[in-house]
Amino acid sequence: MARPNTPAPPEKDDTVRPSRGKFRGMTTLWDISPAVHPGSPVFPGDTPLRQHWDATIGPDSAVNLSTLTFSPHIGAHADAPLHFDPQGAAIGTLALEPYLGLCRVIHAIDCGPLIEWAHLGAAVQGALPARVLVRTRRKAAVDHWDSRFSAFAPRTLEYLADLGVRLVGIDTPSVDPADSPDLPSHQVLRQRHLRVLENLVLDEVPAGDYELIALPLKLTTADASPVRAVLRAL
Ligand SMILES: [Zn+2]
Repeated sequence: MARPNTPAPPEKDDTVRPSRGKFRGMTTLWDISPAVHPGSPVFPGDTPLRQHWDATIGPDSAVNLSTLTFSPHIGAHADAPLHFDPQGAAIGTLALEPYLGLCRVIHAIDCGPLIEWAHLGAAVQGALPARVLVRTRRKAAVDHWDSRFSAFAPRTLEYLADLGVRLVGIDTPSVDPADSPDLPSHQVLRQRHLRVLENLVLDEVPAGDYELIALPLKLTTADASPVRAVLRAL
């Protein structure tokens, strides 16, 4: 039974989670996902998150139950080949290995509109892990849309693929500039079978090597999926 009212927020104990912390017997985790809620920024024209309460706890319902509507490119997310290739695979059909394992975080803060190879500096000399995340911002734009963000130069992605990288990530909404008409970096992703994570939050993450865990949902028809992306200390 549809009810327009919003249920009471859960008890505080249910919601408080340190984004980064050390627990007894556990390694340090960095949560590199922005919060996702109706105010989360999306590309202009994309569907923001909307939540409709189908039922709320009361005389007529034993549960709170909602329906979510949103672009799968909201928050930290993985693009599927289907996003930029009509014949491309949907996100839920991809192998999971690229989204899980050894990863290098490289700082290229304030590098300008495009991440060129030189911005990656010494971090790409020698052996590279199969996953590379690039931090371009001091503070990720988690609460507003900002079209002036850094993207990858296509040749930077080519070089990373040449070195055996299988997944790239960035702390901005796209690997191409917001006004790019032909998305050349997305085309490199397609040609080189690279996987991608966008909208990461790397504000607190020192440059270095980590274990990445960022699994997409098994959405077998979707062009992207939100991920809960975390880094674990090695
Ligand atoms: Zn995307």
